[in-house]
Amino acid sequence: MTPTDSRPPLTLLLAAPRGFCAGVDRAVKIVETAIARHGAPVYVRHEIVHNRHVVDALRARGAVFVEELDEIPDDGRPVIFSAHGVAKSVVSEALRRRLFTLDATCPLVTKVHREAERHHAQGRHILLIGHEGHPEVVGTMGQLPHGAVTLVQDVAEAERLVPPAGVPLAWTSQTTLSVDDTAAVVAVLAARFPGLMGPAKDDICYATSNRQAAVKAIVAGGAEVVIVVGAPNSSNSVRLAEVAERAGARRALLVQRGADLDPALLDGCAAVGLTAGASAPEALVQEVIARLATRFALTEQEVRVAEERIEFRLPPALTRDLPPALTRDSPPALARDRAGPLASRTLAAD
Ligand code: SF4
Repeated sequence: MTPTDSRPPLTLLLAAPRGFCAGVDRAVKIVETAIARHGAPVYVRHEIVHNRHVVDALRARGAVFVEELDEIPDDGRPVIFSAHGVAKSVVSEALRRRLFTLDATCPLVTKVHREAERHHAQGRHILLIGHEGHPEVVGTMGQLPHGAVTLVQDVAEAERLVPPAGVPLAWTSQTTLSVDDTAAVVAVLAARFPGLMGPAKDDICYATSNRQAAVKAIVAGGAEVVIVVGAPNSSNSVRLAEVAERAGARRALLVQRGADLDPALLDGCAAVGLTAGASAPEALVQEVIARLATRFALTEQEVRVAEERIEFRLPPALTRDLPPALTRDSPPALARDRAGPLASRTLAAD
């Protein structure tokens, strides 16, 4: 604030980590690299990640988004599965049609798929904690035969659940749930079904857990209102808004970009928090900051709860003889748009 600055002061607590995760980064990079290597169009089944800005930017570069494979012609173009994962029937259909597929399913979603398969192979019925209709849930349920999985959406459903009689049970979950809500559902299931198998902690991914912990930290640090940059259909973004309010924020505002925010809503606040869902690029966070600065003299403070150094490899079909401009050291535009330093640890992706 300058001596002549008439804007009221506002402390902006920036959650860290926030924004793009390794799975989203990889998915976006797969689309960008496929376009760079094979030209346009490349087809993408479902929004590659739940963010309109990302989808529109990729569409402008030659990605064609479809909901089902029958919208794609048999013309040999690349077909990319989104980060949320797909049911086995989709993979089978693509194989039957000999489509050139590239799988952008996040490796942490694939891990849940394999976990569910393993329990099923060992004779267990699966209780999947997640939200009905979310593409990740559809994909996970679609790894197993019809009837092998029961969806449990909340504590109330866990309390009235009637699983198949005489069959051992195992639970797994969507990766982008509320950590606290999931723990509550698991507690009910474990109390009702002794012998229930499951992961050591939960299947919620590191990115979701870290972003929720960072939101709690900014609220504990004094944020009266928390702005979440993310899409209304982005599970992890909606969870961030819920976590903020449950942690004690007076209000959480979910906005897709700077223009969506009415800064006047923050009049009277001394401190507000800002975070972004795992599918929201840092450029949109910066838009929100610029928007806030039109009304307030901002003092920015980062509140960091974790360092993230995970990166997932691209599918081998895209990395063979990759031109230097597309290596991880010089990633394409959107993929580079992640908050924080580029990850240094590389995990196998597929
Ligand atoms: Fe993967 Fe988690 Fe990111 Fe989803 S939010 S893409 S599971 S890292």
